Amino acid sequence: MPTSICPECDEEVYVDAEVEQGDVAECEECGASLVVVGLDPIELDLRAEEDEDRLDDDFDGYDFDDAS
Ligand SMILES: [Zn+2]
Repeated sequence: MPTSICPECDEEVYVDAEVEQGDVAECEECGASLVVVGLDPIELDLRAEEDEDRLDDDFDGYDFDDAS
């Protein structure tokens, strides 16, 4: 299984052998969401967290403010 280096914590991240550019992987060490930006060698970059931000915005619409 090929590996690359997590840009967040510099640990080895295992990626699927048939990974393609734009695929998403997760660092088992720090839990970062990583996107494949290069294949030869495999290169990983931190994934923009737009999706999670959008989820947070949705939650703001509900009565979900007890934690803040
Ligand atoms: Zn990491």
